[in-house]
Amino acid sequence: MQHTKPSNCAMCPFQEPERLCKNETGRGPEGCATAEYPAACEAACREMASDGELMRFAAEASRQEAACYGPSPYDPEARQPLKPRIMEIIEFAQRMGYRKLGLAFCLGLRTEARALCEILESHGFEVVSVCCKVGRVDKSFLGLREEEKIFPGPEPMCNPITQAGILNEEKCEFNLMLGLCVGHDSMFLKHIEGYVTVVAVKDRLLGHAPLNALYSGYYRYLKKPEEK
Ligand code: SF4
Repeated sequence: MQHTKPSNCAMCPFQEPERLCKNETGRGPEGCATAEYPAACEAACREMASDGELMRFAAEASRQEAACYGPSPYDPEARQPLKPRIMEIIEFAQRMGYRKLGLAFCLGLRTEARALCEILESHGFEVVSVCCKVGRVDKSFLGLREEEKIFPGPEPMCNPITQAGILNEEKCEFNLMLGLCVGHDSMFLKHIEGYVTVVAVKDRLLGHAPLNALYSGYYRYLKKPEEK
């Protein structure tokens, strides 16, 4: 199908309740993903309907989504969020009946990985965890020169394909990603066989919360040209 423009929901000009994706009589701009890509949506629904396990995964994810809200003490019509993401992950894995979890983490977040592992084990999960430097393959393997390393000298590369390979070999039922670098996370996602959820992404500067850059005017230098 020919589209008037490629989808760009991020720049949708309508308020959320008026959007076509939320409201049957709502509106969408040129290139609206709901109006102009019905075949993609039909294909996705067909795929889910033909795969019982996928359908169950999707249904439990939506049940878990709803379970993350509770009644607001101030407004009977409103809902308030109840749970941190780690609790959401634990509850979703329990809904799915998973027992064995994989954890691919960045060595820079080893303290957080240990704390997470202890929490997961306290809920009865078996955890297989693999750090990013697994295998200790020097970055020279990638053709990097000494000056392209963080520090000159022996420096193991991040090894996301090995992380995925070990979690695949251990047949982890559900995999968690914690703080992998940009690009290394992409390689992990490309090579892991089972489902993955992200516990946290890496942001070395902003406490692993990259959205903080979008909440503060101090980061307007990120846009080109910089807004005054
Ligand atoms: S699907 Fe259409 S209405 Fe919904 S956000 Fe995207 S462009 Fe806007």
